Amino acid sequence: MPAPDYPAAGTVLVTGATGFVAGWLVKRLLEEGMNVHAAVRDPSNTSKTAHLTRLAGELPGTLELFEADLLKEGSYGDAMAGCTVVFHTASPFTSKFEDPQRDLVDPAVKGTRNVLTTANEILSVERVVVTSSVVAMYGDNVDIARASGAVLTEEDWNTTSSLDHQPYSYSKVEAERAAWQIARAQDRWKLVTVNPSLVMGPTLSGHSTSESHTLVRQMGDGTLKTGAPPLQIGMVDVRDVAEAHMRAGFVAGAEGRYITSAGSVSFLEMSRMLRAGFGDQWPFPTRELPKWLVWLVGPMLNGSLTRKMISRNMGYPWKADHSKSQRDLGMQYGPVSKAVTDMFAEMIENGTVKPPR
Ligand code: NAP
Repeated sequence: MPAPDYPAAGTVLVTGATGFVAGWLVKRLLEEGMNVHAAVRDPSNTSKTAHLTRLAGELPGTLELFEADLLKEGSYGDAMAGCTVVFHTASPFTSKFEDPQRDLVDPAVKGTRNVLTTANEILSVERVVVTSSVVAMYGDNVDIARASGAVLTEEDWNTTSSLDHQPYSYSKVEAERAAWQIARAQDRWKLVTVNPSLVMGPTLSGHSTSESHTLVRQMGDGTLKTGAPPLQIGMVDVRDVAEAHMRAGFVAGAEGRYITSAGSVSFLEMSRMLRAGFGDQWPFPTRELPKWLVWLVGPMLNGSLTRKMISRNMGYPWKADHSKSQRDLGMQYGPVSKAVTDMFAEMIENGTVKPPR
């Protein structure tokens, strides 16, 4: 399926425009000549916005920065005025939080309600694309193993995460549920969700903002040199995630939720991709640790690694069906190995990981 015809000089909103995923989406929108309203927490913080204004200077579209905060009701109104499509990407994706309700769930859920109730008031809005996640569809790998055919589909919902167990996943499922509830209560604009697996690839800002980078950094800084945990996850290239947003926003027949994932990769396979690209001198793990060992010592080495998390995730295959995104949106997924090696190359370049001496 070819890419859709994008509206010439359409005006769109991107929330959380400073983010890793949003940067590539803003770039695609600017390439298509659109007027991008970029909502950010602090427009005067040029360390977070310089790459966006630079892109706008180089590409056909235009960019305007607006100040907005997920937790300030009504703060997206000015940014949304005149927009036909709203891309709601803003949501905290971090493992560094003190209070999961305050730091993850409130911004995700109240923020989604804030943005979507504003869409109810702004009559130009025809479509809202929410960046959800595959973790809104499952909580732990064991849930997928128990799903129909042991393959995750758009029919699945995460019913096992909570404030105490996988709180980020809980924030995403609660936010997506809130989005569908608001969307179904009206009939002027359509909701489409993009549900990516772990997003890999280089940044446009030159520095990491997202939790996506933690795993790749740990592969290179020696954290995992004694061995990789026996864990499989879905991964996808950030450039494909941006493309999926474009198509979710503009393909006429886009409907519902879209698993956006290139495939399943184990930590050991990821290490092999990095070794093939960067050589043996790096401390990439060379073997997979047995689950019982990770269960025994993991929680002592890493406070966020609980025995429940290990029991319910490690040793289970991760499988998801991305065919709906191929069929409806014409998505084609690039290789995860390129996304991972491009990401690591940037980390070497910007000093996030130091080559071993
Ligand atoms: P990111 O780089 O950390 O981007 C998150 C964005 O949310 C930033 O622009 C951040 O703004 C904004 N934000 C956070 N709290 C906010 C608040 N209170 N008010 C306004 N803006 C706020 O992470 P990302 O990886 O690009 O994630 C983008 C979206 O993709 C999120 O919805 C995430 O859940 C989803 N997702 C990511 C992945 C992945 O692997 N990366 C996978 C699936 C889904 P500041 O710059 O001001 O902090």
